[in-house]
Amino acid sequence: MERYRGRFAPSPTGPLHFGSLVAAVGSYLEARVRGGEWLVRMEDPDPPRVAPGAADEILRALEACRMPWDGTIVRQSERAEAYHNALHRLRGRGVVYPCACSRREIADSATVGIEGYVYRGACRGGMPPGKRARAQRVNTGGAAIAFDDAVQGRIEHDLERDIGDFVVYRADRVYAYQLAVVIDDAEQDITDVVRGADLLASTPRQIHLQRLLDIATPRYVHLPVAVNKAGEKLSKQTLAAPLDPAQPVPALFAAMAFLGQGPPPELRHASLTAFWDWALKNWDLARVPRVRTAAAPAISPQR
Ligand code: GLU
Repeated sequence: MERYRGRFAPSPTGPLHFGSLVAAVGSYLEARVRGGEWLVRMEDPDPPRVAPGAADEILRALEACRMPWDGTIVRQSERAEAYHNALHRLRGRGVVYPCACSRREIADSATVGIEGYVYRGACRGGMPPGKRARAQRVNTGGAAIAFDDAVQGRIEHDLERDIGDFVVYRADRVYAYQLAVVIDDAEQDITDVVRGADLLASTPRQIHLQRLLDIATPRYVHLPVAVNKAGEKLSKQTLAAPLDPAQPVPALFAAMAFLGQGPPPELRHASLTAFWDWALKNWDLARVPRVRTAAAPAISPQR
């Protein structure tokens, strides 16, 4: 069997809810069914945005769901040195530059691309005299990136046109998610990334960074993202209900149904052991709906 190392990389901004459970269950089952390892990484590079205790709460929720991870938990808050070194390497290759533009200046001059404003590269050739660097951006000139996603199909971006030169080191002195995730996935030797389709538009940026840093590109699978009635991604901000650690099976069952696995109705009332027996025997990535978002189901308690 081919070597497989997957991961679940939650941002500990709040407790585990249905949206993050779907990513956890999908990445976990795909790793286990392929005979692989499954790692957990806490994406907390930005201490003010982290909810105190949320990381532990997420880990306890995974334990309550009986989803054991391999190895030790990596925390981005402890990895600034690795990100610093990567930024240094990018600078050495001349593909990163300081940018003095304020949000306002960017909004005034930008076009709108796949994910918000496309920075037109005003500081690419140097900052205006007397201006101070706010952020560091990576040059996307000529970067045509394509990849095949096992659920979402072929994705192609002309990064310069669709995204623009993106930030790798933020004005608030935090390494950007795009850089951190590339460095961590490489250092943890991740072969397969299974995550929510809200990150689909990030993947070409990550592949661009991998190429600039001579890092191998993992395989990518982007699962449908659960949205509420207003079409918003479930999150702490949209008041998604936390997983009930005392009774995780209904939510696990709902995650399997959401992922197109067609669990038999009686499984909703089964034990955790019976649930995982069924899930590990029946998980099939090919049955995951080929959509980017889908309505989150109501989760009713066990009888
Ligand atoms: N931390 C990200 C999130 O919770 C996921 C990042 C990833 O899987 O690459 O949305």
